[in-house]
Amino acid sequence: MLRYEGPIYRPPSEAESLLVQATMGCPHNKCTFCMVYKEGPHFKIRPTVDICEDMDWAAQEYGPFVTTVFFPAGNSIAMKTEDLSRICRYAHRVFPNLQRITIYGSAQYIESKGLAEMRQLAEAGLARIHVGLESGDNEVLNAVCKGASRQQQIEAGQIVMAAGIELSLYVLLGIGGRERSHAHALATASALNAIQPTFIRLRTLLPKKHTPLLDDIRAGRFQLLGPHEVLRETRKIVEALEVQSELASDHYTNYINVHGVLPEDQSQILTEIDNALQWDESSFRPVYIGNQ
Ligand code: SF4
Repeated sequence: MLRYEGPIYRPPSEAESLLVQATMGCPHNKCTFCMVYKEGPHFKIRPTVDICEDMDWAAQEYGPFVTTVFFPAGNSIAMKTEDLSRICRYAHRVFPNLQRITIYGSAQYIESKGLAEMRQLAEAGLARIHVGLESGDNEVLNAVCKGASRQQQIEAGQIVMAAGIELSLYVLLGIGGRERSHAHALATASALNAIQPTFIRLRTLLPKKHTPLLDDIRAGRFQLLGPHEVLRETRKIVEALEVQSELASDHYTNYINVHGVLPEDQSQILTEIDNALQWDESSFRPVYIGNQ
């Protein structure tokens, strides 16, 4: 059977994928809003022989039915390029109908690999990377201890796209709080314009238990946005985008679900946001604070 240690966490778009654990935890593990690995396990890279053994087992059980593989956990991009390439090639060997291999990866690890190594990974069959941009604003990135500056985020995004790997970038609405909401919106849009990612995925900050950000909110150091403020922030971002990307808000944290291909659907998405701004705030999902 497939072995797995720690919380299972994967993008919603990988719901149908075979999950084969390549790493445990997150080598960064410092983002103030993230609860996923705060209670462990510590970051560890599994031996490639174990990862391949798990794929052998899965190939016997599900072989031809596997079309997409996701290699958790939080930052499998931190594996040595040679090892990550090896398991990508192995996956393509044992699953005859495999169409896509995906991982999570933060900007700082992508940037340290550089374009040549990212191209090697693309040649080995790595097809998509999910990266937490969160914000294009340096102050916000510093405040949340993201571990990558705006410039690193832009360079890493451009490297992924130049390597021919699909890039799914996450934007965290509300992460600047009231104080930085405007700056966060404009800087995020301009970073996305510089990167031109394949996908832009919106998430809304929902403070979680066991996170430093929740402590800041409770101490009054961070002001959480309400539904209308989040929608106005979203509107600013969407309005300032000059990208050819798919925009999705495929997550329960969002107050509304907007989806489309930009630039074609940009004005329709802005209209949907304007319509939602007419609704009473009580009609949106409750603003949970630290009870999850
Ligand atoms: S890099 Fe990702 S998994 Fe790691 S702490 Fe930050 S948000 Fe969480």
